[in-house]
Amino acid sequence: MLTFNDNKAGMTGLDKQKITKIIEENTSGSYSSFSKKQQQRIDEKVSEIKNRLESATGEERQGAELFMKNLENKLEAGRDLSRDCVCIDMDAYFAAIEMRDNPALRTVPMAVGSSAMLSTSNYLARRFGVRAGMPGFISKKLCPNLTLVPGNYSKYSKVSRQFSEIFMEYDGDVGMMSLDEAYIDVTDYVTMRTKKRVLKRHRYGGDCLCWLPRVTDPPDSENIEIDSSECPKCAKTRIIYYDDVEFGVGREEIVREIRFRVEQLTGLTCSAGIAANFMLAKICSDFNKPNGQFVLENDREKILEFLEELPIRKVGGIGRVSEAHLQSMEIRTVGDMLLKKALFPLCFSPLAQESFLRTALGLPGRPSSSDHRRKSISVERTFSPTSDFKILIAEHAEICRMLEEDIRKSGVTGGKTITLKLKLSSFDVLTRSLTPSEVVTSLDDIEKYSMELLERERGKEIRLLGVRLSQLVFEEEKKSKTIADFWNEKKQQTASEDVMSTDDNDIIMMDTRPCPICGEDVENRLEILNFHVDECILKMGDTSDGPDLICVTVEKKAKKPEIQKTSGGRVQSKKRKTQEQKTVAKRKVATIDSFWKKI
Ligand SMILES: [Zn+2]
Ligand SMILES: [Zn+2]
Repeated sequence: MLTFNDNKAGMTGLDKQKITKIIEENTSGSYSSFSKKQQQRIDEKVSEIKNRLESATGEERQGAELFMKNLENKLEAGRDLSRDCVCIDMDAYFAAIEMRDNPALRTVPMAVGSSAMLSTSNYLARRFGVRAGMPGFISKKLCPNLTLVPGNYSKYSKVSRQFSEIFMEYDGDVGMMSLDEAYIDVTDYVTMRTKKRVLKRHRYGGDCLCWLPRVTDPPDSENIEIDSSECPKCAKTRIIYYDDVEFGVGREEIVREIRFRVEQLTGLTCSAGIAANFMLAKICSDFNKPNGQFVLENDREKILEFLEELPIRKVGGIGRVSEAHLQSMEIRTVGDMLLKKALFPLCFSPLAQESFLRTALGLPGRPSSSDHRRKSISVERTFSPTSDFKILIAEHAEICRMLEEDIRKSGVTGGKTITLKLKLSSFDVLTRSLTPSEVVTSLDDIEKYSMELLERERGKEIRLLGVRLSQLVFEEEKKSKTIADFWNEKKQQTASEDVMSTDDNDIIMMDTRPCPICGEDVENRLEILNFHVDECILKMGDTSDGPDLICVTVEKKAKKPEIQKTSGGRVQSKKRKTQEQKTVAKRKVATIDSFWKKI
């Protein structure tokens, strides 16, 4: 259903009613009858939930409350606040590339896509309510002067590959969720990076508009080098300004540096979220968009405070259907979810109960046994501040023993780097690392090396001690998924699609991921994926064998109705078409967990 929501960056404060009306006036036929059917099923489930809540006995309620309290304690015990997780999201990516390559598009509302579906719109177009996932002809009604540019996916994937190489310098295990979204764990890099870094910057000015980034105000002439020449593209005067930019230590500075390097390399801006896990980092990446970053402290209270007023729809994996179910319990924000958690066992499956509670607490999905993001194991303990080295030695021994136990349990044989973390009575946090020539495997080694680090801090008044083992070595040497694997998989996919490709750098990449319910490939954008998963959840209530394609009839004025088959995404890849022929669908329960596990 194309109801309008303004979740997208740059779209708040629009005249929603007007936009919704235009959309309604331009869609009809089977599309709206499907929407009604869909709404009916949501309504049925909603009244089921309400009935369950009304008919629950006092005993049932007490049982549910106790159960959720225990679950919460269990989940809290596993909360990991030791990581620095970053989500990088390119700003209006496809549109930004087209604007970079054609200066005339920078000052007009424009979108990338076709009359059937838009994939990205620039910020000028968003002011008119034009957004991704919207049929192009409707967007023309909202914004008659909209310039529509056809997508060039091989170009977009080439640019993606360029900046993903920067990300790899900060995390060799970076996860590319899609062409414009990356998940980087900078924890180890932040620890290692103890010195500031000075990088060269170049910016363009002059009559030539071909190159990005541009200088915004005339730069002051001190410490700046100026180079003027004729632009090889447009033959106008091109001025290049060179100067230095300094980046400090700590995660915020490092993320600023990553964003700077992406812009210098590609001329494109991105936004970033920094938090204790990727689920939170993703939410944060939307807060200072475009060209900004937002940090959420690794602190339980701060995290809960941040989530309190957050609308549930902003959380990855909660689509329209889950939203409707939760709203029937008067849950609108993540804070409401936490307040009403005791009601979940009365209405939802155990899997859903836990994943909703995890969301409410700001915890990522359940770690799977093959969790490729796990790169370190750590234990830390807080005590009353002391500089008494005997007490510290005893605490240290206990921490090492617990760490060794955790290591055994998690199928890890050892790690290459050992890190000692100290919080002083002044609340300053220090980390000290050591990478011995051999892999650290035994309790003796852990104690020996971390003690070596602790010895150097003798005399300091300490209130927290932690030991971390990183660069882990796994029992079966499970290979983690690197960016190289990511691209290789994509290569194989395209190869099997018989796409002719002579140049290795010129691969046409369909950016898709399998739907957790039907297994079909869906375009890898949160809103399109959510839309598709919603359809699949609704279809599961049906007696049919599994999700079928949804027929959308779109009526245009003065034209014959055009029938489009869509499955929620806009791109019909060859691969998907072959999958459509397989009508067997696996019935799985989609949870937020399964969504985040994939990252
Ligand atoms: Zn030029
Ligand atoms: Zn599906």
